[in-house]
Amino acid sequence: MAATKPDNASSTVAALRRSFDSGLTRPLSWRRAQLVAFKSLLRQGEDELVGAMRADLGKPALESRLTDLSFVAAEIDVMLRHLDAWTRPEHVRVPLAQRPGQATIIREPLGVALVVAPWNYPVHLLLLPMAAAIAAGNCVVGKPSEISPRTSAALAKLAPRHLDPRAVAIVEGGPEETGELLEQRFDTIFYTGNARVGRIVMEAAARHLTPVTLELGGKSPALVDADADVDVAARRIAWGKFLNAGQTCVAPDYVLVHERVERRFLDALERTLRAFYGDDPHRSRDYARIVNDRHFERLSGLLATTSGTIAFGGGQDRAQRYFAPTIITDVPPGDPLMDDEIFGPILPVLRVADMDEAVRYVSSRAKPLALYVFAASKSTVDRVLASTSSGSVGVNLTVQQLAIPGLPFGGVGASGMGAYHGRHGFETFSHRRAVFSKPTLLDPPVQYPPYTKIKEWILNKML
Ligand code: NAD
Repeated sequence: MAATKPDNASSTVAALRRSFDSGLTRPLSWRRAQLVAFKSLLRQGEDELVGAMRADLGKPALESRLTDLSFVAAEIDVMLRHLDAWTRPEHVRVPLAQRPGQATIIREPLGVALVVAPWNYPVHLLLLPMAAAIAAGNCVVGKPSEISPRTSAALAKLAPRHLDPRAVAIVEGGPEETGELLEQRFDTIFYTGNARVGRIVMEAAARHLTPVTLELGGKSPALVDADADVDVAARRIAWGKFLNAGQTCVAPDYVLVHERVERRFLDALERTLRAFYGDDPHRSRDYARIVNDRHFERLSGLLATTSGTIAFGGGQDRAQRYFAPTIITDVPPGDPLMDDEIFGPILPVLRVADMDEAVRYVSSRAKPLALYVFAASKSTVDRVLASTSSGSVGVNLTVQQLAIPGLPFGGVGASGMGAYHGRHGFETFSHRRAVFSKPTLLDPPVQYPPYTKIKEWILNKML
């Protein structure tokens, strides 16, 4: 596999298409061997990838192992375990009028897939969809993000050592190179990142009528009711928010807390942050950095323009792109913090009179990628579920819904379309082909012209 230059995007895709047409990627034995090769890439490249993510994002090694490397390896294990079952023809019922006959759905690969990844979980968000594409029998081009350049380079170097170059390619580069790739005809495009580029991807895909999966973001709320276990809520929200310095697509973006527990919740949050990162998070090895100057300036600007109160944190060190875990209270309606996804370590905590107010607030906005609800009462949780929509939901937790391979991971509305993880990834990269076959021994003339009265009577009886 070659880490290709942009000018040969078309030849890369053409070569992969030839491989696909040759049938190389269809046998399950080939797919299995490639999935095992993905795992060996992760194992043998572990130090290099962890080092690259540390250099790009200041990512703590344990976080890189947990949320990038082990996560992908565990998902690949699921693929290996279930590949036989997933690829088995699925029999469906044949109505009486159509018998005898056999109806099945077979999963066939789509062809050549493009996976475009962002920088925040740069190994996970590239390799996991690529592995799902391979499990489904496709060829695949992976495009890592130029914003995490060391990880991109490490992936481009490691991949050819492990994966079959006839079927898998990594193309490095930024918007220009991605643009060149998007001019090619793919059979499916899997994009993870912001909605602005999501539109560019979808427009490009429309020219070839290529189906797309868009894994986007949004402002994911966390609701904390008066009967919630406030200490647990504070810990789980703080963990999900400040993991990777808030640069996580499913991080809780803001909190809507019941006024009766607001004070206790804020105190618990502060205690938690001190316990996680010490009194000076700047010195903590367990706290990541902002990916680049542009994002740092964006976050700094948000803090400068908010009319809210900095209840905790707020410290910054531009040279190191350190941005302290920060909690903002008294956020007025229309505050800039509440416009777009924050995607950084600033957590607005908004007070609500009750969960109905919280639900009204959430459902008046675009559908988020995730919604978190912390409550003891099941009827509150049910009410929140029934009156809002989001890609996924965590009840008394944040982020960990991703770790359940049986659950589809994806957005709805503005937070994206399509899903993956576990079987859902395999399905995303597969076509469900309908096959109906009939024996020839019996061929009753009832459906054929001339349509006599008796035939009509029989058909009416059967339908
Ligand atoms: P990014 O800037 O790395 O962009 C993503 C990809 O798009 C990159 O590969 C980049 O090269 C490409 N790209 C950028 N500009 C382009 C252009 N003009 N034309 C074609 N391609 C272009 O990452 P990002 O968008 O900053 O990622 C952060 C966003 O992604 C957040 O909104 C976050 O919520 C979302 N996200 C979603 C998920 C998910 O699984 N749903 C996961 C991670 C991040």
